[in-house]
Amino acid sequence: MGRRITILGSTGSIGTSTLDVIRGLGPEYRAAGLAARSRWRELAEQAREVRPSAVAIADPRHAADVRPLLNGATELLVGAEGLVELVRRPETDFVVAAIVGAAGLESTLAAVDAGKTVGLANKEALVVAGALLVPLAEARNVDLLPIDSEHSAVFQAMAAGRRAEVRKVYLTASGGPFRTWTAEQMASATPADALRHPTWSMGPKITIDSATMMNKALEIIEARWLFGLDVDSIEVLVHPESIIHSMVEFRDGSVIAQLGTPDMRTPIQYALTWPQRLEGCARRLDLSTVRRLNFEPPDLERFPALRLGFEVARTGGTAGAVLNAANEAAVEAFRENRILFGRIVEIVERVLERHDVVPDPDLQTLLEADAWARREVAECLNA
Ligand code: NDP
Ligand code: MG
Repeated sequence: MGRRITILGSTGSIGTSTLDVIRGLGPEYRAAGLAARSRWRELAEQAREVRPSAVAIADPRHAADVRPLLNGATELLVGAEGLVELVRRPETDFVVAAIVGAAGLESTLAAVDAGKTVGLANKEALVVAGALLVPLAEARNVDLLPIDSEHSAVFQAMAAGRRAEVRKVYLTASGGPFRTWTAEQMASATPADALRHPTWSMGPKITIDSATMMNKALEIIEARWLFGLDVDSIEVLVHPESIIHSMVEFRDGSVIAQLGTPDMRTPIQYALTWPQRLEGCARRLDLSTVRRLNFEPPDLERFPALRLGFEVARTGGTAGAVLNAANEAAVEAFRENRILFGRIVEIVERVLERHDVVPDPDLQTLLEADAWARREVAECLNA
């Protein structure tokens, strides 16, 4: 069973790993469409290699740069509308949603709406609009397959029993680069410090989210939506080696874990080939050299983002959109050296406190909450 795959965010860390997986899988798996925002040279180079029927560039200023570099067989689509058109095309049946941030929501919704199977890396789409995406996927009979390593692990472990038999889901976390730092050391950490992840190589936004552990907060909300979990059944466990990617405990006391080297190509491939398993290209796990697997409870004092993650998962409504947008804006300010590391989560918490949650929001209300939160962060920065 082959796949004709459209990759949204093809120039990013997940996007390039997805192309790597496709190269390894052979001719039945083809890239039918590629999309990126600004890295037009990389996009054109990818298009020359895989010859998709169309590519989309989200930033219209770069359309004129890409066009002359494309082979005649590849059509160019432009802007946010171009991305939506790309996922709707009949030449594609599988969409890898790997745009970073809420910017990926519109095209992910469009892919689900068009009935395409979705491999979801863009966790922010679920954090913002899980209450819309999940029912839409059910209505269109679309599989939303997790690419995030923890959620891929949970998805695989869930296959060992029935949903009603699940007692707990343990999301593992590496603890990031500041796992052993004091709160004082962390308060003034630099972007370079925060970008030095101990186990995973990823794009800059998620790497900083791992340093604040906001990434795990987003993943709690992601898990809640993907698996329809009661928030009380989700637990976070720090596991610095990143070998156990998550675990599911069933009511009889059995705990099923999924293990592997920290390489995103494994969960990406699983999503692409599911329900089959094909030969993989990631480095193999050798537990005799790993020798030791460590676990510790997360420190909510030093990593208050986790507390926010649980709270927002319980609150629902527009809270996820606000948490996510405030975090995106604060992370950007940190990367621009406008705020200290310690202020990222402080600002997110302040914006959440000021927000009047709207229950059962529609898309328009969610987008307004997102825009409101970004304005609030801008005000905090200028205060
Ligand atoms: P990167 O920053 O490496 O890549 C982001 C991609 O999104 C780039 O291709 C970028 O294009 C594109 N993009 C950004 N904004 C837009 C936009 N407005 N319209 C169209 N394309 C856009 O991020 P990652 O690959 O690390 O992460 C992608 C997603 O996957 C995130 O949601 C992340 O949380 C999730 N994820 C990532 C993991 C990883 O290992 N990297 C692990 C688990 C989840 P360009 O660069 O050309 O501007
Ligand atoms: Mg993850």
